[in-house]
Amino acid sequence: MRVGLGQCDWTFDNEFGRLKGTEDSTPQLIEIPMYLRMAKRFAMETDKRLLAKAVWALGVKGLRSVHRHKRRLKRGEFFPPFLYLSVINSCNLRCQGCWVDVGAKQHKIELDAANRTIEQAKAMGNSFFGILGGEPFMHKDLLNLFEAHPDVYFQVFTNGHFITDEVAARLRKCGNVTPLISVEGSEIISDTRRGRDGVLNQTIAGIEAAVRNKLLVGVCTSVCKSNIDDLVRDKWVDRLIEMGVMYTWFHIYRPVGPEPNPQLALSSEEQRRVRQFVVDTRATKPIIVIDAYHDDAGNALCPAVTGFTHHVGPWGDIEPCPVIQLATESIHDSKPLKETFNESGFLRDFRELTAQNTRGCVIMERPDLLLELADKHGARDTTARGKVMEELRNVEPRRSQYQPGDEIPERSFVYRWAKKYAFNDFGTYGKHYQESQYRDPDQQPPKSSAGQPDSQLPVLN
Ligand code: SF4
Repeated sequence: MRVGLGQCDWTFDNEFGRLKGTEDSTPQLIEIPMYLRMAKRFAMETDKRLLAKAVWALGVKGLRSVHRHKRRLKRGEFFPPFLYLSVINSCNLRCQGCWVDVGAKQHKIELDAANRTIEQAKAMGNSFFGILGGEPFMHKDLLNLFEAHPDVYFQVFTNGHFITDEVAARLRKCGNVTPLISVEGSEIISDTRRGRDGVLNQTIAGIEAAVRNKLLVGVCTSVCKSNIDDLVRDKWVDRLIEMGVMYTWFHIYRPVGPEPNPQLALSSEEQRRVRQFVVDTRATKPIIVIDAYHDDAGNALCPAVTGFTHHVGPWGDIEPCPVIQLATESIHDSKPLKETFNESGFLRDFRELTAQNTRGCVIMERPDLLLELADKHGARDTTARGKVMEELRNVEPRRSQYQPGDEIPERSFVYRWAKKYAFNDFGTYGKHYQESQYRDPDQQPPKSSAGQPDSQLPVLN
């Protein structure tokens, strides 16, 4: 049966109606039945072995790696506890706003180099790796990579098109992989956003194959003007729960790369709406909601600036994060990774300079700082297109997750506790942030009239 959002048309009843706490009720007690439902879902809907692996490699060992990271920081040393690897530049889709050179000659991190990188990170206590592309499943050795490291956990960012029953069965056998499958809107919006017909149906087929094989499945969305009304709503989350999806992640669309499509970017008000939705959903629905941009009190942060993650591109370049395509070092350098991360002046300056100026996303708010850093350190453009400096010069600054004075704290006591211990700024902003240096993009005059107006509808790539 062909399944698509268009056919579902949000007809699902909201069986997990919202449980709103009043000022004097005890939110913790209100949340308990929801967490029991979530625990039941995890126990009944996923393979027990996979669940045990996730609890151990991602939960217990993940917390231990954060603890080691904190101890390193106290000693004045640095190594990010979570590494992201874009293993290949190729992709079968052409999404709006993609920053990867998906149409360029194929380049990938070969299995040996990926193994070496992961081994070196494991030696530093890391146990979690994010795998990106392009489309990671186009890398012919991807499953071999997962099989080679049964002691760590992988999250694969994928469009789901290559997840057949056969692939899903092999992932189940590996036991240490969670696919995070991207859905960018209803059928028409998905096809527009991703540059091809039939994209959503193939993605849904991938989600179904993964769920049938009892994998721990996540769905992510880059929220923009054309999908916020369809996907940032209870009915979509209920639909995911009904499909057997265990976690979701709402990224904010970042207008970067060769075709930034700024008309898709959310306004400050819309970004606040997404944040409120995430906080409410976390406290009311039996599904995990990931958010990498706020601490327990709702203060904005950038995970690259806090040193929580850094990224390795398809050419092996070590970058602050996937969208900042500048580097001075590579995993192919002769230096051990431990020394590279500890000694990189470029990455240290990136973290400190950004933290001095904003708690938000530097590429959205202050692309000029990246140009300054690239100039100071002689950082190279890590793309095949070779136009990153020009692209940065053309970025029209806009607000990101940093909405000073409008912080929305976590409602859920579980997330509050988890973030307090394992996901915060680790003292970064307290040490570096200088309020006088913050430039509110909403208060700046537009750089040029070249950007398109917000009301313009998305265009086909
Ligand atoms: S610089 Fe922006 S895109 Fe990169 S990790 Fe920070 S907030 Fe995210």
